[in-house]
Amino acid sequence: MLKYYYQCTDCGQEYHSSEIMYLCPVCEKKNTPEMPPRGVLKTLYDYSIIKKKYTSEIFSSLRDTKFLDILPVHSLKSFPYLKVGDTPFYKIPKLESSELSFNLFLKDESQNPTFSFKDRASNLVSAFAKENNIDTIVAASTGNAGSSLAGICAAQNQKAIIFVPAKAPKAKLTQILMYGAKIVPVDGTYDNAFDLSIAATNKFGWYNRNTAFNPFTIEGKKMVSFELFDNLKQKTPDRIFVSVGDGVIISGVYKGFEDLLMLGIIEKIPEIIAVQSEGSDNISRNMNSDVFVSKPSSTIADSISVDIPRNFYMAKKYLQKYNGKCLTVSDEEIMRASVLLSKNTGIFSEPAATTAFAGMLKYMSEDKLEENSNNVVLLTGSGLKDLNAVQSKIAMPDAVKPDISFLDKLF
Ligand SMILES: *Cc1c(COP(=O)(O)O)cnc(C)c1O
Repeated sequence: MLKYYYQCTDCGQEYHSSEIMYLCPVCEKKNTPEMPPRGVLKTLYDYSIIKKKYTSEIFSSLRDTKFLDILPVHSLKSFPYLKVGDTPFYKIPKLESSELSFNLFLKDESQNPTFSFKDRASNLVSAFAKENNIDTIVAASTGNAGSSLAGICAAQNQKAIIFVPAKAPKAKLTQILMYGAKIVPVDGTYDNAFDLSIAATNKFGWYNRNTAFNPFTIEGKKMVSFELFDNLKQKTPDRIFVSVGDGVIISGVYKGFEDLLMLGIIEKIPEIIAVQSEGSDNISRNMNSDVFVSKPSSTIADSISVDIPRNFYMAKKYLQKYNGKCLTVSDEEIMRASVLLSKNTGIFSEPAATTAFAGMLKYMSEDKLEENSNNVVLLTGSGLKDLNAVQSKIAMPDAVKPDISFLDKLF
């Protein structure tokens, strides 16, 4: 018997199939390049059977088996040996020397093997490929998903082919090449690279990891919610700030908590705050409109610079169903938040990650964080991935002569 099945986000149709599936074959037919795709599939399990299997301490039992019952793979041996997930979780008592009245927690996803949250998705997609004897995986990416897939495939002895916009930051492109992946720079946008990668998948018969196209990207990403629940000693956080581009990470966070809800482990879904850059707000701006209208994106936070959010409809559904909130912050606020975060915590995050932190700062300044409430900020990627972005915020002093007398002027 299959341990999982799919359900279309849009038409609700269920698919019980062991074949590789991407979008709902019915809804997919209506898709056009100008609109977010319809037909992203949600992966579901027989929750009642799992509930019966573990009568007491169900969460701990699932955790001890690495949540294999609610993943679309069969063996833990299929995962790479690299350590994905179980990322650090820090409580930050003070910011700018003032004690915080609320509890602030940071989940540092830069501590994944390729230094971003994207490893959670690559990890599962790669394991699934291994179990199905697939040796070539392709992805389109602005950088992090590509460098992640390249790294994970290098560890798994799989071939990675990465389509990137030629303008992606150098560190990410360098990473892809160092991991030995085949890189295809595309003279165009991320959306162009995305469409080309799908055409290539169809033509050459590869397995595709594209975000919100391959349903297991969401399944991999949901694992962070199980960890957060565990990090808080099996309590649901009150609020989670998530940087949003395509809307897959945020959907993954929701899906993780929804799985826990289905299993009767939790009773309510936390409040999730979708934080976008003002220059790339295609999810928050379209939240309440009937027809999606894309605005060309332009932001310092390149990992969340998205014209057509690939998981728009699922993210919107989740946010509406569970009373999530949308928030935008300016590039200036993102940069200020980056500096404040590094200085106060010792964590250096890339602008797309500090966007969530900037959202938290905005909530804090508006007194929206209740006393003693548990607030989590997901820090999705390392600052070393995009050194150019922060150059305007730092100043390198002139060199001194290697002579102690010169230091008198400095100190
Ligand atoms: C991909 C990414 C995001 C946003 O994730 P989406 O699923 O596109 O919303 C945020 N931060 C970083 C560092 C990323 O790489």
